[in-house]
Amino acid sequence: MPKNRSKSPARKAVPADPLRILSIGAHPADIFDQSGGTMAHHVSRGDWVGCCVLTHGARVHDKVISDEMFHAKQVPEAKRLEALMVERADVKAEEVRRACTILGVKDVYFFGADDAVLLPNEAVVRRLASLFRELRPDLLLTHFPMEAGGVWNPHAAAGQIVLLASALAGEVDPGDSRPPHRVMQIFFWGQGAGALPHTVWDAHRPFYNDVIIDITDVADKKLACLDCLVSQGYAGAYARKRIETSDGAFGLAGGVPYGEAFISQAAQTHYYLPVSEYSRKRARMSDHERIQRYSFRITS
Ligand SMILES: [Zn+2]
Repeated sequence: MPKNRSKSPARKAVPADPLRILSIGAHPADIFDQSGGTMAHHVSRGDWVGCCVLTHGARVHDKVISDEMFHAKQVPEAKRLEALMVERADVKAEEVRRACTILGVKDVYFFGADDAVLLPNEAVVRRLASLFRELRPDLLLTHFPMEAGGVWNPHAAAGQIVLLASALAGEVDPGDSRPPHRVMQIFFWGQGAGALPHTVWDAHRPFYNDVIIDITDVADKKLACLDCLVSQGYAGAYARKRIETSDGAFGLAGGVPYGEAFISQAAQTHYYLPVSEYSRKRARMSDHERIQRYSFRITS
């Protein structure tokens, strides 16, 4: 391990009562972009980690649908276009499966919704609630429902779908014989690094990232995941830029080289005031020691 790479002081042995963690993204890349490193940590610790992708994502940065057709004289007629989208959706799903294998995630659920307009409608909420009753996750990782002001953005819609579904999962629903299930906590994906506030929808931001996970020891694993997402142009230079700009910025906020940030849905109760090992160490470092610690870069 390189000299300045963080030694993950909070790493723990396999828990006696493993957590069940479900990461839910609007599009195929989101789960890796936002929580790939965190998922890798929890898989290594022995927790169960699963993924759910709400839309097929064929329109999102796809090499054929959104790139080649952008400059074409004419797009194919409806039937041919629909068939092409199914084809591209399959390519994307395969990339997701490959990336999940790198993280050690075995259970992936594709809802296959059209990514044209993702709305928090009753059908998708009921379906997701049913998945929650089936999988019984303790923690949900997903989009922040107020992303981009929460008014038009598919990520925000996905976060809202998850919130509604988690509430419904806590109740019975005709047609689902599984008992109700309540999650312990929802960690929304951090804001402000991957997309800096730059539109009117970002003007009002009454929130901050209150949890930062040090992913430095698995940043290369996350990079390998992003490299799998060839169909949307992530592989290669973009993946590296993404890790440096987004995870690097979250890391800087947390005093580590690379981090993933989260916004807790609810305050957690403790017996003592919570102080992480990172906070203790950081408080005892000089300015130059902090800069040196932060400055490690993966080079692969
Ligand atoms: Zn997305």
